[in-house]
Amino acid sequence: ERNNRSEEQVSGAKVIAEALRTQDVKYMFGVVGIPVIEIAVAAQELGIKYIGMRNEQAACYAASAIGYLTGRPGACLVVSGPGLIHALGGMANANMNCWPLIVIGGSSEQSQETMGAFQEFPQVEACRLYSKFSVRPSSIEAIPSIIEKAVRSSIYGRPGTCYVDIPADFVNRQVNANSIKYVECCMPPPVSMAETSAVRMAASVIRNAKQPLLIIGKGAAYARAEASLRKLVEQCKLPFLPTPMGKGVVPDNHPNCVSAARSRALQFADVIVLFGARLNWILHFGLPPRYQADVKFIQVDICAEELGNNVRPAVTLLGDINAVTKQLLEEFDKAPWQYPLESTWWKTLREKMKSNEAASKELASKRSLPMNYYTVFYHVQEQLPRDCVLVSEGANTMDIGRTVLQNYLPRHRLDAGTFGTMGVGLGFAIAAAIVAKDRNPGQRVICVEGDSAFGFSGMEVETICRHNLPIILLVVNNNGIYQGVDTGTWKEMLNFGETATVAPPVCLLPNSHYEQVMTAFGGKGYFVQTPEELQKSLRQSLADTTKPSLINIMIEPQATRKAQDFHWLTRSHM
Ligand code: ADP
Ligand code: MG
Repeated sequence: ERNNRSEEQVSGAKVIAEALRTQDVKYMFGVVGIPVIEIAVAAQELGIKYIGMRNEQAACYAASAIGYLTGRPGACLVVSGPGLIHALGGMANANMNCWPLIVIGGSSEQSQETMGAFQEFPQVEACRLYSKFSVRPSSIEAIPSIIEKAVRSSIYGRPGTCYVDIPADFVNRQVNANSIKYVECCMPPPVSMAETSAVRMAASVIRNAKQPLLIIGKGAAYARAEASLRKLVEQCKLPFLPTPMGKGVVPDNHPNCVSAARSRALQFADVIVLFGARLNWILHFGLPPRYQADVKFIQVDICAEELGNNVRPAVTLLGDINAVTKQLLEEFDKAPWQYPLESTWWKTLREKMKSNEAASKELASKRSLPMNYYTVFYHVQEQLPRDCVLVSEGANTMDIGRTVLQNYLPRHRLDAGTFGTMGVGLGFAIAAAIVAKDRNPGQRVICVEGDSAFGFSGMEVETICRHNLPIILLVVNNNGIYQGVDTGTWKEMLNFGETATVAPPVCLLPNSHYEQVMTAFGGKGYFVQTPEELQKSLRQSLADTTKPSLINIMIEPQATRKAQDFHWLTRSHM
């Protein structure tokens, strides 16, 4: 018997699958083909859930959302050359968002390197710009430790993408099972805390603030800092502003949430504490005119290189957000303090919130047809289950939707993110629905897409139907990118002898029946033009927990957002 065991053989594919499982990777998304089919099969045999998608880009977006939602990386499995290149978009997006992700790419045969092998491409080099770590194991025996390092690197420090390249001839090559040493699952990321003196200084700057503001970013959501941050907000009675994906860490309907006075809050705050939010374009770089020139920033981040970007911070707190927030709480416990609710700052913010909310309510109540964005989102908001995962993308759809659609729970909003990526929606929704199935049955995923955004990976509707994921897709359809034209104008244009090649580049085919993409695969499709039809179709979609649906919502092709105070707001994505 002992002899038999020493001769037991194992394929490279099985070693990869076992190594991933050992590192607690539970989900794999991909598109199979030569040379990776056997890897997907081996993963399934070990209980890793494999979700086959229709394009590597969407598969990679899906895998990356797993990392954000669960804190453990998902895997994306792709074939060599073009397969890997399609996945680069997902790798870049994850890395920009600071989300953990493992990409396993098949590559051409090692023995044919530089000979012009099938789909040969310098993959390890290509991935370097899109990842923290990009490597090809030198042998099958090296795979377990390389995969452990990839998984560990993806979650330690600032999270990000890691790439492991697998030559085609490794996949089916058999090696002696005894020669493979699996590496124990890497430990959870070590928790780092800020310097005590810096914590003390931060608390003192906050205490002395006249117009303080906390900004809660998606780093705080990823760090699972919801309980400590909520405590800080409530104990010190501080106003807070979530970034788009920071929404829900502390609920949007919390009395201290000042989202509806966002511009005002940013412009006049004298002390801003950043919890896992970078001073990039999303926060207007922390510079005037959107901020006071002398605003004091306190940055809380796990990545030292982030501290001091674009501004000279008053205090830097290097460490894990949850741990650092607890340090701040301890500091405030020593000498309890609250920001006075009767301050002029609170008064200003409340007044601004009131008038902004009234302005969007007015737009929402417009009875004219076709509907505008606000009308659509108000009706959606009315029926949204509190615990649903909201996925959203599309320029106006995402920007306006964010102001109306509420999040009550952390990590329940996924959108175009730091990289402003369009095309992420269906992949994200699929990942969220797969996680919901395992961890929170009954939870709904609602994916609010612009018509243009939907087009980037519309064929993933087949994946949704194949896996029977009860996702509700809303396509807010204005016949174009940013804006389109109505059917009449479109016909007129073509009657003038013009062809679609000279139509405004923002135009898409008017009145497209996107809901038929869903019915083609057995899901439910609705084409709606009125608030009543929208309400009814949404009610039916929510009631049916077994089937996906797509509601194609026709809106005014020239509809835009409400008038902004500042001219520079009209074209920005915020
Ligand atoms: P947003 O888009 O919401 O503004 P960003 O993606 O710009 O957020 O910023 C997130 C920040 O959070 C990144 O700088 C990242 O380094 C940081 N971060 C991620 N995880 C943690 C953590 N556990 N503790 C502290 N900071 C973290
Ligand atoms: Mg559109």
